[in-house]
Amino acid sequence: MSEHKILVATTNPGKLKEFSGLLSGWDIRWLSLRDFPDVAEVVEDGRTFEENARRKALGYAEATGLWTLADDSGLMVDALNGLPGVHSARFAAQDSPCTDRSSIDIANYRKLLTLLKNTPPQQRTARFICHLTLARPGQILIESEGSVEGRITDTPAGDNGFGYDPVFYIPSLGRTAAQLDDDQKNAVSHRGNAIRKLKPLLAELLTQHTGG
Ligand code: IMP
Repeated sequence: MSEHKILVATTNPGKLKEFSGLLSGWDIRWLSLRDFPDVAEVVEDGRTFEENARRKALGYAEATGLWTLADDSGLMVDALNGLPGVHSARFAAQDSPCTDRSSIDIANYRKLLTLLKNTPPQQRTARFICHLTLARPGQILIESEGSVEGRITDTPAGDNGFGYDPVFYIPSLGRTAAQLDDDQKNAVSHRGNAIRKLKPLLAELLTQHTGG
């Protein structure tokens, strides 16, 4: 099979590495949005993770002419009717003007803890969701969705990871996501699960398009 190019719709080198690492085994040249500095950003204003992932995959595929893999993820808390959901990245934006990533993350999970202040442990169930879409210009090719179930703690614990990891307790592991190392987290995470589900679909697709 000849080399195939796939653009990962991210400027984050860590995400590019995660995708290309978990989706290895083919002659694929993985690119990121850093390779296309002039391409305009696709606005993520969908109401669901699926809508946002589809918009990004189709938008960047159209702009570059390449097969494009996009993800959208976030946290859904049952006691808050699914919030922060698609607002996960900037949940506390109105209350906190900070702009650096770690201050934003802390403001976000503090807001969550405040909203759940009177919610008892058994009602603090939540899940991370990740939706993945691979598209080419004008056409969605394959999609997958992964999740991981947990519970929101009442105090943060651990300092690995990012986002809501310090307050996301995974009962099956007895630790918060921020208390796991990268490999342990990838093995159970919503993103890891979505990528693992996508892998056989990508294998099939590449066979159809390139003869394997
Ligand atoms: P993105 O779609 O991967 O950029 O994720 C959007 C937001 O969801 C992030 O800014 C985080 O606040 C939250 N989030 C997504 N995945 C995780 C995770 O694995 N741990 C903690 N927070 C996450």
